[in-house]
Amino acid sequence: MAKLDQLIEELVTANRILAREGVVDSFGHVSARHPDNPQHYLLSRSRAPDCIEVGDIMEFTLDGTPLDPRGRASYLERFIHGALYEARPDIMSVVHNHSESVIPFGVTGQKIKPIFHMGASIGHEVPVWDSHDHFGDTALLVENMDMGRDLAKRMGAGATALMRGHGATVAGRNVRQAVYISVYLEVNARLQKQAMDMGNVKFLTAGEVDKVAERTGPYGINRAWENWCRRAGRPFQAEQG
Ligand code: MN
Repeated sequence: MAKLDQLIEELVTANRILAREGVVDSFGHVSARHPDNPQHYLLSRSRAPDCIEVGDIMEFTLDGTPLDPRGRASYLERFIHGALYEARPDIMSVVHNHSESVIPFGVTGQKIKPIFHMGASIGHEVPVWDSHDHFGDTALLVENMDMGRDLAKRMGAGATALMRGHGATVAGRNVRQAVYISVYLEVNARLQKQAMDMGNVKFLTAGEVDKVAERTGPYGINRAWENWCRRAGRPFQAEQG
């Protein structure tokens, strides 16, 4: 299969997995940088992730202009993706979601930190971007490049950022890694809340986070991917798109 077709299949699978694993519901999206043109990215038309098919995947320039819309509506918040690809040449995939367990951490000042080994990929601490700081009262949606760039700045060199009163955004070196981090960001938030209800939490140390991150390679991520493909009813491709 051609590289582009394979990546489009991968994106459809990523959408279905994120839906099946409870990271996205009727909203939320996942994109990939175009494999032949780093100034473009691939993202579905505006549709619930569990419904997305190959024909829904569209190509955009980094400023969010669709190349060949053919009547397909774009996500209002596509600027999240373009702004991150613009700021971060190292990232090839972006997930935006309203993952339920992370929301309380975006509004209380209580930081999400890795609480178990599978959570190490979220980074040492997850920063919170508050749209109100620079944009005042908005509908909380990232609906232009100014807001997208501000979010990208808050994320910095990391893989994750919460969005106050809204959700989270995750960046990865490829689609599978971005999905992996998104799933475990949700799990980590859920477990962290449970642990905090029980008493004082001993989080992973900075050194432990680094050691786990060193060990989290394609082997582990592909193992999870195969399992998630099965659960989502999608074919597993050993090679990444
Ligand atoms: Mn959103």
